Amino acid sequence: MTRRALLTGITGQDGAYLAQLLLGKGYEVCGVIRRSSHRGVEDHRLRWLGVADKVRLIDGDLADLSSLLRIVQEVQPHEIYNLAAQSFVASSWRQPVLTANITAVGVANMLEATRIAAPQARFYQASSSEMFGLIQEPMQSEKTPFYPRSPYAVAKLYGHWITVNYRESFGLHASSGILFNHESPLRGVEFVTRKVSDGVARIKLGKAKELRLGNIDAKRDWGHARDYVRAMWMMLQQETPDDYVVATGRTTTVRDMCRIAFAHAELDMDAHVVIDPAFYRPAEVDILLGDATKARASLGWEPQVRLEELICEMVDADLARVARESES
Ligand code: NDP
Ligand code: GDP
Repeated sequence: MTRRALLTGITGQDGAYLAQLLLGKGYEVCGVIRRSSHRGVEDHRLRWLGVADKVRLIDGDLADLSSLLRIVQEVQPHEIYNLAAQSFVASSWRQPVLTANITAVGVANMLEATRIAAPQARFYQASSSEMFGLIQEPMQSEKTPFYPRSPYAVAKLYGHWITVNYRESFGLHASSGILFNHESPLRGVEFVTRKVSDGVARIKLGKAKELRLGNIDAKRDWGHARDYVRAMWMMLQQETPDDYVVATGRTTTVRDMCRIAFAHAELDMDAHVVIDPAFYRPAEVDILLGDATKARASLGWEPQVRLEELICEMVDADLARVARESES
C-alpha cells in the first residue's frame, strides 16, 4: 500500500528536503501551498531538488481552518508534517499578531483538521530550540524548562503544548520535534548562515564590498536540514508518539561560523564584516546547545554533516548561484 504524506510548509527549506526524502521512500506527497500573485516561483526549492513535478500541491492557508479541513479530508494522509510557520525570529517583533495567528493558532487549526478528518494520521509538529530562549540549563534536553525570548518563540511554545495536549486529550499520534537551527543552501537568505554564504559569494564575485551583521557573539547549535528532516520521519515511525530534541551537541559563535565561510572563499572576514546595530534584536538568545541523547537512543538518529561541511556547501552553492545571476 502506498503511504500518503501531507506537508504544510512544503515550499520552505524543510518541506522541500522532507518531500525529497519521502518520495525516495515511495510515499505519495501532497503539500499545502499559499496562493500568491507570483505564480511559478513559490516552488523554487522543490525545483532545485528536482521534485517539483512529483508532488501534488493544494491551495490552503494555516490561518484558514476550512481550507485545512477540506485538504485533510480529501488527501486522507497517513502522516501529516506541520512545518508551516512565520519562521523568522526578527520578523516576529514586527508582526507579532500574524506570528501568533500562523505559528501558534495555525497549529491548533492543523490539529483540529486532523482530529476531525483523519484522526488515525500520525502528526508531526515543528517545534523549536528558540523555546529554550534564556537557557535554564547549559545543555537543553526534553526536560529543560522553557523561557521564550521572542514573539516567535512564544508562539512556538503554544504550538508545542497544544500538540502535547491533543496527544493526551484525544489520543492523537502527535509528536513534537524540538529542532535546533538547521541550515542548507535552501535556507531563507534572511537567516544568518545563508546571509553569510550569500554575502561571501557576492563579495568574492565583486558584487558587494561588505556584509552587515548584528550580534556575532551569539552561539548556535547548527546542523544540516537534510539530517533533521530524517529525524522528523523517524519520529513518526515510532509506535508511540513522543517529543524529541534534535541537535548536534556542538555550539559555535556567529563570528566563527562566518570565519569558516570567508576562509572557504579565501577572503579576510575582518576586511568585509561591518557590525550594524540595526540587526540587533530587542531580546537575544545568547546561546543554544542541544542534548539529543533521547533521539540517538530511541530513534537511532545521528547527524551526518559537520558545520564546516555545511557552511562550505552553502558558500559553494551561492558562488554558483551568484555567478549564474551575473550571466543572465
Ligand atoms: P521556512 O521559512 O523555509 O518555511 C516556512 C513555510 O511555511 C513556507 O513553506 C511558507 O510558505 C509556509 N507558510 C508560512 N505561512 C503560511 C501560512 N499562513 N499558510 C500556509 N503556509 C505558510 O522554514 P523552515 O523550512 O526552515 O522551517 C520549517 C518549520 O520548522 C517552521 O515551522 C520553523 O519555524 C520550524 N523550525 C525551523 C528551524 C530551522 O532551523 N530551520 C528550527 C526549529 C524549528 P511560503 O513559501 O508561501 O512562504
Ligand atoms: P534564529 O536562531 O532562529 O534567530 O536564527 P538566525 O539565523 O536568524 O539568527 C541566529 C543568530 O545570529 C541570532 O542570535 C542573531 O541575533 C544572530 N545574528 C547576527 N547577525 C545577524 C544578521 O544579520 N541576521 C540574522 N538573521 N541573525 C543575525
